[in-house]
Amino acid sequence: IQVNKLTVIEAYSLLEADGLIHARQGSGYFVNPKTTVTSGLTLRSNFSPSQEVIISQGGGSFFEQYTTSIQARRQQNIIEFSSGFPSTSISDNLQRVAKRALAKAGDTLFREDFPQGQLLLRQLIAQMLIQQGLEVSSEEIIITSGSQQALSLAMQYYLRKDDWVIVETPTYHGALGILKNLQAKVIGIPMTAEGINLELLEQYLKSHRPKLIYTISTLHNPTGITTSLAHRQALITLARQYECFILEDNAYEGLKFQPVPPPIKALDRYDLVTYISTFSKTLMPGLRIGYMVVTGEHHQPLVKQKLLNDLHVSTVSQVIVSEFLASGHYRRHLNRLRISNLQSRNVMLQALESYFPDAIAWTIPKGGLFLWTHLPNHLPIQTICSEALSHNVLIASGAAFFLGQGYPAMRLNFCHTPEDIEHGIKIIGRLIKNYLTP
Ligand code: PMP
Repeated sequence: IQVNKLTVIEAYSLLEADGLIHARQGSGYFVNPKTTVTSGLTLRSNFSPSQEVIISQGGGSFFEQYTTSIQARRQQNIIEFSSGFPSTSISDNLQRVAKRALAKAGDTLFREDFPQGQLLLRQLIAQMLIQQGLEVSSEEIIITSGSQQALSLAMQYYLRKDDWVIVETPTYHGALGILKNLQAKVIGIPMTAEGINLELLEQYLKSHRPKLIYTISTLHNPTGITTSLAHRQALITLARQYECFILEDNAYEGLKFQPVPPPIKALDRYDLVTYISTFSKTLMPGLRIGYMVVTGEHHQPLVKQKLLNDLHVSTVSQVIVSEFLASGHYRRHLNRLRISNLQSRNVMLQALESYFPDAIAWTIPKGGLFLWTHLPNHLPIQTICSEALSHNVLIASGAAFFLGQGYPAMRLNFCHTPEDIEHGIKIIGRLIKNYLTP
């Protein structure tokens, strides 16, 4: 078999980035004695984002943002740095896997299913989570229509109108949309490179007695921060002390380039944490397969809520994902995806170095799909986004991810071809320079 040399080099980079091997000049690669788990974030230049706490009733404009960007993506020749999904095509594999899965399932596809999802899929997900350090049984898993439904069900379960909830700021705008709908009162606590600012968190846990903390613990959307193990432990301790639940959204862990700490749920001895993840970022968003791990007394009410919501998730999607997992295709696909994402990330970092002015800072993400860039305060980010769109480059303005004003920022999905990355970043760089005084 012929293997592209670049692929081999990138595979070594991935293993090195994983902390599994190291290079020795002139001697080759050597296996590391112990793997180092990474957290935190690397920034390309010094930047101290605002440490302001924001209090608001929900926030963002998720509906408008989502529909506008879906609409824009239907256009030809658009470079969509704004999307939250992988671009890698798995269509050949998908067709084969889907055909096999549907043939195996046969007549069972014509039946209604359990609200918590199919047993086989729950067992396969449990096995996968155990490998990630989360000891869980299939009985504790609920399959949902994407993790968006899981977020929605959990937030509805834990919160009532006017209840206080803590989020990281910035955070996933789809979660802010749900909170707005529920009329919850939201406290946005800024993040440090290790995760949510713990001093501010404790201060607000004490003063406002929130019911829930929503956290994206690994490869946070949009900043890319991975909460450190010490912060994860502190979160559990604080939640127990102030009788607050935690909603842990782990949508991006599958796309890590390096080992990360175990989920917060793995440290939970008191059923305080509801854990959520998805196959949207690693397989296909259109399958709409997400899941939640809910333990103790919270499990059954959430299964009932799922039933009332939409009876159960598509059986067609469930059997396809089960087949991906059971056949080993998923594992192989993830490895390829991570190598390809790492290559794309490096191409984007290179393009940013070449075309972005020095005044801009950006993150060096250790996985996921996005780079988060900070712009100087006076820059008109919305205008820059509109101008970029007129050049067929779609970017997500950072504004969508803040409860309040926030700071000017852009989220850039790096999973594109080298040509598109080079072309798109060059255009954005030129637009930004127009607003910077020499
Ligand atoms: N959580 C986070 C952090 C996300 O970024 C997204 C999608 N962008 C979701 C949840 C929802 O994704 P899905 O419903 O497709 O699983």
